[in-house]
Amino acid sequence: MDLPVVIAGAGIGGLSAALALGAAGHDVLVVERAGELAEVGAGLQLSPNACRVLDDLGVLDRLMPYAVAPRTIRIGSGRTGREIARIDLGDRIAERHGAPYLVVHRADLQKTLFDRALEQGRIEVRLGSEIIEVGDTPDGIVQCHVQTGNILSQIPAKALIGADGVWSRIRGRVPGHKQPEYTGLTAYRATLPAEHVDEDLLSRTGLWLGPNAHLVHYPIRAGREFNLVALVPERWTEEGWSATADRATLLGHFGNWAPGVKALLEKPGSWLKWALCGVDANGPWSDGKIALLGDAAHAMLPFAAQGAAMAIEDAAVLAHLFPPSATDIRAVLKAYEAARRKRVKKVQETAAENGRIYHLSGPMALGRDTVMKLMTADRLSARQDWIYGWTPPR
Ligand SMILES: Cc1cc2nc3c(=O)[nH]c(=O)nc-3n(C[C@H](O)[C@H](O)[C@H](O)COP(=O)(O)OP(=O)(O)OC[C@H]3O[C@@H](n4cnc5c(N)ncnc54)[C@H](O)[C@@H]3O)c2cc1C
Repeated sequence: MDLPVVIAGAGIGGLSAALALGAAGHDVLVVERAGELAEVGAGLQLSPNACRVLDDLGVLDRLMPYAVAPRTIRIGSGRTGREIARIDLGDRIAERHGAPYLVVHRADLQKTLFDRALEQGRIEVRLGSEIIEVGDTPDGIVQCHVQTGNILSQIPAKALIGADGVWSRIRGRVPGHKQPEYTGLTAYRATLPAEHVDEDLLSRTGLWLGPNAHLVHYPIRAGREFNLVALVPERWTEEGWSATADRATLLGHFGNWAPGVKALLEKPGSWLKWALCGVDANGPWSDGKIALLGDAAHAMLPFAAQGAAMAIEDAAVLAHLFPPSATDIRAVLKAYEAARRKRVKKVQETAAENGRIYHLSGPMALGRDTVMKLMTADRLSARQDWIYGWTPPR
């Protein structure tokens, strides 16, 4: 009997991997700790490299009714409130890369992937179940110890993919892998009904740069809601995506920003926050028949908006290198790791560098703004080509 590939986690990475591996001909079992795919999280940006894979997975068309394709990214100075530069998105980026740039609610993407997975025929998703331990049998089969309520079961797998996020348990089964590190930065997020903001904000992504802080906003839920994420340095560390944030503390970080931007930050009555963690992609991502994928392998700062995209790309590459007939699964998983590491590390470094540039102050910030103003929209776009132009192996 052919054993399934077991995937820990029905996040964006786990469900994308399930769809890709299922399409390649594997039976797949996804084990997800959460009892339901609740509407947690908020906005995600999906650049053309991610959308291309979602299209291959049969998900992009179904996602479109929930998505917005912003016309531009408008970069502004938080201090003066003035525009610094614009990067074309919309039709221009779709023409440039043959795939759109979308903004969505995380829950809408997760639900779309989940519904498609249930239809595909080869994929089972077991909600409310957690992989609590992993063992091996003498003949090299991976034994996943799964807890569902009070019931413990053992599930044999031909391979285990740890897509269990930044606080991954499966990572403990990959000797030498690096543990997540807090970056000293916190992301505050809030959503508003679209009618609470000016209409022109609903057709673009906004990126405001300021000393030691930046703000990103864009529409989600087909333009019915507006998503704000404010990023600031804070020595706060706690696991989770939805801690209640103190609004006054957040606003304090933006005290000397331009009145128009502050007015936008003052609109939400409440904010949630999460402490930003990174996982160094240099460590091994696989051991034997176990491999890590997405945030579990390489969580990164969100300043290149590529965390979910890298997980989606991982899924496409893993499935491409893993035919159901493969006998040397260790070699398959090592090949996957080797195929992904260089690009993921470069994107991680770019995200960290963006953070440094976004948070500059004084003359360095003035220099940054001048350089950006002098760059044409086309040159600014071209700087992203190596990220957005990636195509999945076929
Ligand atoms: C609840 C939540 C809300 C988020 N909100 C945002 C947001 O608003 N904006 C943003 O940019 N990014 C958000 N993210 C992060 C973003 O989704 C990821 O960075 C990106 O999509 C990479 O996804 P991933 O699949 O690698 O990991 P994740 O999206 O973190 O998914 C990991 C999944 O594994 C499950 N899991 C963990 N341990 C086990 C286990 N032992 N057994 C079984 N299942 C397990 C978790 O419940 C989770 O569903 C959120 C993530 C989560 C989990």
